[in-house]
Amino acid sequence: MTEGTKRRIEAHRADFLAYAVRCPFDGTVVGPRFVTREHADVPPDPPYAATVRCPKDRELFEVVFRR
Ligand SMILES: [Zn+2]
Repeated sequence: MTEGTKRRIEAHRADFLAYAVRCPFDGTVVGPRFVTREHADVPPDPPYAATVRCPKDRELFEVVFRR
């Protein structure tokens, strides 16, 4: 992840699951439907992050779930 801060955002997992998280590029609401990859390699509460593709501008970014 060296493409800039917009490529990694933080959110509460509950907000993400409820489609209350927005794409950092254009503000489009994103959620589980747009996940391309989940990162589950850190215990105890996987997934701790997910890679998401915005359905509108097709930007790829990572959502890191706050604890
Ligand atoms: Zn977007």
